[in-house]
Amino acid sequence: MEEYEKATTVMCTVIGMDYANSLSYRACSLCERTLPDTLNALCKFCHNNTASSSSKRLFRVLVSIATDTKVLNVMCFDRAARVLFGCSADDFFHFSKLHPFAASNAAKILEGEMCRMTLSRPKNGNAQHLRAVSIVPLRSGFKPAIESLKEFYGVKPATS
Ligand SMILES: [Zn+2]
Repeated sequence: MEEYEKATTVMCTVIGMDYANSLSYRACSLCERTLPDTLNALCKFCHNNTASSSSKRLFRVLVSIATDTKVLNVMCFDRAARVLFGCSADDFFHFSKLHPFAASNAAKILEGEMCRMTLSRPKNGNAQHLRAVSIVPLRSGFKPAIESLKEFYGVKPATS
C-alpha cells in the first residue's frame, strides 16, 4: 500500500537539513541502542559499563530532498549520513563544539547536491519518515561537508 514499502532509488537534490535539532544521538558502543543524552548514562540492555568506551555518537539527520516530482523529508542514519558529512558523528560533534555554526554551515554546503538515494520505509510502522538507506553523491568533485568546513574554518588537515 505504501509507495515506498520496498526500497526505491531516486535521483534528487538536497534542499535542506534540519540542523536545529542535534544531528546525532548517543548510542551504546556495543549494541548501538539509543542512550539518554546525559553524561555517563550507561546501557541498560547489554550492561556495557566500561565508562570510557560506553558510548559513541551516531548520525540521525532529517534531510529534505526534491525529486523530479515531489519534495520529501528523509531520515539519514549513520551509514548514509557519513557519506554527506565525511566523518563520524563523534568527530562532527566535537568539531561543532569548537565551531558552533558548523551544523548550519554544513546544511548550506550540502544544499543543491545531486544524489542518488535509495529510500525505504522502516519495517516498524511507527517511524514517520522514509529512510535513506544509501546515498551516492553525483557531482564530480563532490566534497563531504567536513572537508569544506575545515577549509572554511582554516583547520589544517591532520597529517597521519
Ligand atoms: Zn548496549
